Amino acid sequence: MFHHRSIPPLDTWPVELAQAAVEATHDLLLTLDATGTIQHANPAALQALSLPAVRGRHFVDLLDVGSRAKGLRLLEHVLGQSATAFVELNHVTGDGNIVMIGYRAVLLPQTAAGSQVLLIGQPTAETVATTERLIALNRRLSALFTLAATASRSLILAQLLQQALSVILTELHLQAGVILLADVPVELERALLAPPEPHQLRVVAHQGFAPTFVEQLADIERLAAFWNASTRAEQQSVVQGTADEVGIQAADLEYAAGPLLTVTATPIMAETNLLGWLYVITDRYDALPPDELELLSSVGNLLGPPVENARLYDALRETSGQLSAVLDGIDSGVLLTDQSGIVRYANARLGSLLEVTVAAWPGQQRADIMRLALQPVTQQSPLFEGELWQVVAGEGRILRRFVQPVADHTGQPLGSLEVYSDVTQLLKTDQLRDEFVAAAAHDLKTPVTAVKGYAQIALRVASKLNEPRLVQQLTMINARSDDLALLMDSLLDMSRIQAGRLQLQISPVLVQDLVKHVTKHFDFDLQRKQRTITCQLPEEPLEVAWDRHRMEGVLINLIGNALKYSPDGGDIHLQAQRVMEKANQGDDAVVLTVTDHGIGIPPAERELIFQRFYRVREAVERGFRGTGIGLYISQMIVSLHGGRMWASDALHGGRGTTMHIVLPTTAAPAPDDAGMDAPPPE
Ligand code: ADP
Repeated sequence: MFHHRSIPPLDTWPVELAQAAVEATHDLLLTLDATGTIQHANPAALQALSLPAVRGRHFVDLLDVGSRAKGLRLLEHVLGQSATAFVELNHVTGDGNIVMIGYRAVLLPQTAAGSQVLLIGQPTAETVATTERLIALNRRLSALFTLAATASRSLILAQLLQQALSVILTELHLQAGVILLADVPVELERALLAPPEPHQLRVVAHQGFAPTFVEQLADIERLAAFWNASTRAEQQSVVQGTADEVGIQAADLEYAAGPLLTVTATPIMAETNLLGWLYVITDRYDALPPDELELLSSVGNLLGPPVENARLYDALRETSGQLSAVLDGIDSGVLLTDQSGIVRYANARLGSLLEVTVAAWPGQQRADIMRLALQPVTQQSPLFEGELWQVVAGEGRILRRFVQPVADHTGQPLGSLEVYSDVTQLLKTDQLRDEFVAAAAHDLKTPVTAVKGYAQIALRVASKLNEPRLVQQLTMINARSDDLALLMDSLLDMSRIQAGRLQLQISPVLVQDLVKHVTKHFDFDLQRKQRTITCQLPEEPLEVAWDRHRMEGVLINLIGNALKYSPDGGDIHLQAQRVMEKANQGDDAVVLTVTDHGIGIPPAERELIFQRFYRVREAVERGFRGTGIGLYISQMIVSLHGGRMWASDALHGGRGTTMHIVLPTTAAPAPDDAGMDAPPPE
């Protein structure tokens, strides 16, 4: 837009008139020398640019970055072509705002000082509006930034909303505000038809109300009703009205305000869900302009996601609170440790079991604190699964510990869970029972031995008298008293094992002899039941150093079981052979197997049968009699020799069971508890 209007030369005007005109005009007048340095500026220019003085400054220095090149081109154009030019330039004013001014540039007549350019500027209505828009945009952006930063900082719902409210009131220069949340988010569409009932709403943050009025805020019926009614009427989400409508007066505010209050309600949304509302109160006469309403609507959308997160977090905290209430209520101590060994949780019961305070444990290294509280119990009890630990403090209670790895839902390991329970009393009871069993077995052994003695004498007499029926009955008494004596021995052995007093008497043994002796023990039974035991032994003498008496007991137990648990008959097969045991560093070992074709042992129970008193359910249900201590003792004895023992399917196929024993040729006693949890080799 070029104006080729001619301007009357200044010097044809009386100087005073010209001066007055320059002072009075609303146009901005600036003169520049040929380099662009400002020579003169009229009051209108200084005012528009919010600067006290500009003389001597380069004209381009007053422009914002985007306008500098345009400013220089304007100057060049006017000076070079003696032409008038028109351009819009952005100024950065003294108070930091940006104003857009349309300039006409005119080349003035040459004077002694050289060429001069006159700039005539007009801040038009349009430029003023643009400037204000820019300022508002700036404020709005900064409010949103502050709010976003605040909202993402806190997960605690009430705290988050209180901070957000405070930012909004400050940034928008509002008097008061309150945030209501629905207990359960509602789909917006549905909220319009059936808005949340007042009892489903809570005031979660407020600011700027007189303390006496705060109580009444809880009476939110009117606030909620206002939004519902207005939204339906006006079909827009942010609604305004007079504060009267929601029952708020100027006197209800914390600080003095004008009499005409406006209320604005903005829904807080997460996607299409309505979570609650933000109500703000202002005493500005003309209420909030569209720009600010738009800003409030952005605020409502911006607050939604963090509010949703905070709600979920609150719910999570509540659940975990309930969980720890449960964990604190149970009778076991619970300790949760993460992958790096840091304690994450310890319940109160653990503290009382260990007689320490566990409140400060989370965050500490588990090893450091537990070492001081517990020491391992050397004599583990086979009565319990899990390990036994002794409490260092107090009377030294005994705790049983279970450890279990913890993983998240994807199977990623998270750490481990330890559960401790007090077994002091149980152990004491168990010990009492053992002592009783030992005493009873001991007292019973003497009469049993006497019965056996008398039976043997009577047997000899009966054979001499040639009384076959009597002989048979006395043989029976003899065999049964052997069984009884064996049972007494087992019970005594068991109590010795429990007390850690079972000791081996190692001596040279010929395995062939041992087997012969064992099978002889079954002569009577085999004959009576018409069963056979086949033995497969090496040709050359198999010499070993074992506890002969105990190992006989072990084999008697295995063969006894093989006979008992194969009621339909079938061969019992015993095999002994020498092998090279890698585990024994080249030392030889002997493998003994006893195979039957009886009822078999379900794979899941093959490890359990070595526990004290454990009996396979099927065997019990089918009426097989037994005590469940034979294999427990056998395995103990095998492990005291430094060997291992396990059960498998019958070797060489068919129904039934094979019991395996691997023993070093020279007994190599293992540490006390070895063998108790040694898994069977694959
Ligand atoms: P008992 O035979 O007195 O019950 P043991 O400790 O010798 O006790 O055996 C434990 C359990 O193992 C038995 O009750 C039985 O269920 C099972 N069992 C042991 N040996 C055999 C076998 N050869 N065949 C089937 N089950 C067996």
